[in-house]
Amino acid sequence: MATESSKLPVADYHMHTPLCQHAEGWPVDYARVAVERGLAEIGFSDHNPMGEEFDNWRMNDSDFPRYLEEVERARAAYSGDLGIRLGLECDFIPGGEKWVEQLGDRADFDYLIGSVHYLEPGWAVDDPDPKWAAKWEGAVEEIWTRYWDLYRQCAASGLFDFLGHPDLVKKFGHRPGGDLKRFYEPSIEVIAASDGAIELSTAGLRKPCAEMYPSTEFLRLACQADIPIVISSDAHRPDEVGADFPAAIKIAREAGYTHTARFLKRSRTLVPLDT
Ligand code: ZN
Ligand code: FE
Ligand code: FE
Ligand code: ZN
Repeated sequence: MATESSKLPVADYHMHTPLCQHAEGWPVDYARVAVERGLAEIGFSDHNPMGEEFDNWRMNDSDFPRYLEEVERARAAYSGDLGIRLGLECDFIPGGEKWVEQLGDRADFDYLIGSVHYLEPGWAVDDPDPKWAAKWEGAVEEIWTRYWDLYRQCAASGLFDFLGHPDLVKKFGHRPGGDLKRFYEPSIEVIAASDGAIELSTAGLRKPCAEMYPSTEFLRLACQADIPIVISSDAHRPDEVGADFPAAIKIAREAGYTHTARFLKRSRTLVPLDT
């Protein structure tokens, strides 16, 4: 049982299920851990199906009804203890906007996350397969430029309730030289202009870059631009639910944040961090 003092004033809206073929634990298992850890609310956001054969790390379209059922099963098991929201982590792919719109109509979603993983057909920037290592040689500036260009398109699409892991491109520690504000500032401008929100994801702490997504500098600029945040674990196993959230809350406060966002039926509210 979580005691009153162990309650976290935030939701964790980024968690996966085995349907995406690279996560463990069903929504009921994540919900159990969330209650133990005193989270205020959780939401599922498995990798979206595509309308065609695409890759091997997302749910198949034929499994979509099962996804909804498993979230319902968790809601039934934990009603009264925990708010459980329905989301989806959608890959942003230029030209794929219609598909995302159609997906959004297929269930009573509380939110959609827009994530940039693919920088070109067949290559996701976060794919750890060593065969991609050579791609970075002499190309870090170019890859960052491409990544942030897509990130801005993702924000400007207006399709998503918040944007996933903002500077995922740093996952393996590749960073161009010089002041990185040249990537951050134009992106923050587009996010703010589209009334977007972002996540502060603790998943980066578990990756070679060993820091949260986004960097604290990006987060400070986002706060100055009044861009709301959610705090996310991007859990792919139940024991990652709410991972490093006390540290994330501290970083959010230091960046100037006093609230985080909550989502219900695709509408956003802000909840104080000190409740
Ligand atoms: Zn995943
Ligand atoms: Fe992602
Ligand atoms: Fe994810
Ligand atoms: Zn993700």
